[in-house]
Amino acid sequence: MDMTRTFHPALGEAARAFLGREHLLLIDGHAAESDSGQRTEILDPATGEVIATAAEGSATDVDRAVDAARRAFAGLWSKTTPAARTRIMLRFAELIEAHADELAQLESINSGKPLPACRNVDVPGIAEMLRYMAGWATKIGGETPAVSLAGEWHAYTLREPVGVVAQIIPWNFPLNMAMWKIAPALAAGCTIVMKPSEQTPLTALRLGELALEAGVPPGVLNIVTGFGDPVGAALAAHPRVDKVAFTGSGETGRRILHAASGNLKRVSLELGGKSPVIVFPDANLEAAAAGVCSSIFFHAGQICAAGSRLYVHERAFDQVLDAIAKRANGMKLGHGLDAGTEMGPVISQRQLARVTGYISSGEIEGATLFAGGAADQERGFFVRPTVLTNVRPGMRVHDEEIFGPVLCAMKFSDDDDLDSIAAAANGTTYGLAASIWTSDLATAHRTARRLHAGIVNVNALSSPDAALPYGGYKQSGWGRERGFEAIELYTEVKAVAVNLNV
Ligand code: ADP
Ligand code: MG
Repeated sequence: MDMTRTFHPALGEAARAFLGREHLLLIDGHAAESDSGQRTEILDPATGEVIATAAEGSATDVDRAVDAARRAFAGLWSKTTPAARTRIMLRFAELIEAHADELAQLESINSGKPLPACRNVDVPGIAEMLRYMAGWATKIGGETPAVSLAGEWHAYTLREPVGVVAQIIPWNFPLNMAMWKIAPALAAGCTIVMKPSEQTPLTALRLGELALEAGVPPGVLNIVTGFGDPVGAALAAHPRVDKVAFTGSGETGRRILHAASGNLKRVSLELGGKSPVIVFPDANLEAAAAGVCSSIFFHAGQICAAGSRLYVHERAFDQVLDAIAKRANGMKLGHGLDAGTEMGPVISQRQLARVTGYISSGEIEGATLFAGGAADQERGFFVRPTVLTNVRPGMRVHDEEIFGPVLCAMKFSDDDDLDSIAAAANGTTYGLAASIWTSDLATAHRTARRLHAGIVNVNALSSPDAALPYGGYKQSGWGRERGFEAIELYTEVKAVAVNLNV
């Protein structure tokens, strides 16, 4: 590392010190060199500059981490009481708050997201997720079903930790994606081998250290950095891993599913989306336009639940689209750590090429570029907030997840009833989220029932609460994170029947 490099002035002492350190694997409570000794460069996506390097893990590193997790599961962690796990998790949440500035700065510089969002949304959000799941640790229990067997029986169910879990996460929300998986696994009493994205491993590594400091025993949370293949692939296929939880692309999700079939480990998948936003003419149109913009342009559209297909009634269409274009054109693009930045870059050169490729494909297939288009920044991976109109099903921009700040806008009219509006909104292989804008209660609830999506927001674009299950219908995935549903992902149910007649 070049120690003479200049840091962004918004980076505090702690973040600078962390960036300047060697970033190794976390195995059995210790920083560990990878077997290969190789390093992956970690970039600032707003400049393309290298900000750190991280150990490049291999399949043998995964073996070591899984061994550590297995030992911790058989040993200390399974003997820790639920109340003790709660206390440790609450301490972990406090430590996150104590290091909030450092975590937010690291998250911003590595993911490109504006610092205020990291500081005011992501960091408090993961502390709340920990506290919410910490509460469940002492409330996980079974039932005593009434059975109709002959004679007298005492039957009950136990809910037990699933065991060693592999958690493979993406680069868009490094802190949140880590904590959505770590918190329920800890509450349930599982041990973990986590693989962060090769592009954004820094904050997960810092969380791993804070977990140890909070009293999470060595081996309970192991972190192996490196590429999807070999590290993720080895975890998904590993015979001594009991469950794999994945968030990322559908393509990689399918690979994980195949790899997991060897030992039939449990699989949960949180994949992409192409989420519809439906604006009825009686809605608060100003609020709807603002909501749409924050959903698709916040974090440059790199959100699996981003509202990327907009359906507006023709009477409201021009007003809503003009308001969106005005906001989009006025958005200040820049470095996540610069004051006033409203939208940062996308994560990589590859992602930049992918998103701009989609925009061109839309134009070639007959869509109209209503706002935005390719970026003009000379360095970093920036795309302007973009709106396409005259979009039709069958166009790639309509059918495929772009994962960038690109909104596809369509119209409906009085000729369309709720069934046909819902059919258009459901016209995708995905089913993650949907958003309905109306001031009519019946329209809201009747539309909500008709949508094939795991998350429906009314007069809102998101509902980031730890208690609300998050996940998708159809090809958006398997299982639900957050809420008690997340605890279910990390537990097995055992039915015990006792014959009292002998
Ligand atoms: P992207 O390609 O945009 O990074 P992915 O869905 O491929 O999106 O990546 C999400 C996570 O999955 C990352 O941590 C990545 O390293 C990991 N990954 C990629 N390929 C595989 C694979 N074959 N097996 C397991 N994990 C993988
Ligand atoms: Mg990939």
